[in-house]
Amino acid sequence: MRICDDRYSRERARMELALRFLRHEARTQTIRAWTGLSDDRIRKLYRSYMSHVRRELPRHRGKSPHQVAYFTRSLRVQEESALLASMLSLLGVLPAAHPTGALAEALPLASVRRGELLCQAFEAFRLLLPAAQISFEHAVFLAGALARGDQLRLGDCGGCGSLMVTERFPLRLARCVHCASPQQARSHA
Ligand SMILES: [Zn+2]
Repeated sequence: MRICDDRYSRERARMELALRFLRHEARTQTIRAWTGLSDDRIRKLYRSYMSHVRRELPRHRGKSPHQVAYFTRSLRVQEESALLASMLSLLGVLPAAHPTGALAEALPLASVRRGELLCQAFEAFRLLLPAAQISFEHAVFLAGALARGDQLRLGDCGGCGSLMVTERFPLRLARCVHCASPQQARSHA
């Protein structure tokens, strides 16, 4: 009986996570990676969800975001990235950092438990910044990139020490939006 109960609750957790991902307009391949559900089950879940909400939920097809440059290209997105990365870090979506500052050797990031935390982090981020540009798919990508640490990392602003997302090997000292020179701020405005 216990085994059946466990299997049932695991299954239920996967379905609930898939629904939460659907609400955030995640792509099928993302939902599959984090829940382990088949494409067929995700499609069925999507159809039954749609018949309940009666609003058109956009489905994004094709590839997920894969550009790390997205997170550093404008001051606005830099500021959003810093806030989102803080949420991901606080809620334990990212593996714990070593004392050296390097993130732990990434276990596969995608799991149901971590997916739930990822949703919590994104939902908190959207509560704080309802007009944020960064989509859920970008948040998933950011979590993966920060966990791998190969192209993006969590760093400190060279001016005030506040948390920010920087390139792995920045060409110049990273500065947050508030410490960036007024001239630079103007050129990005
Ligand atoms: Zn700063």
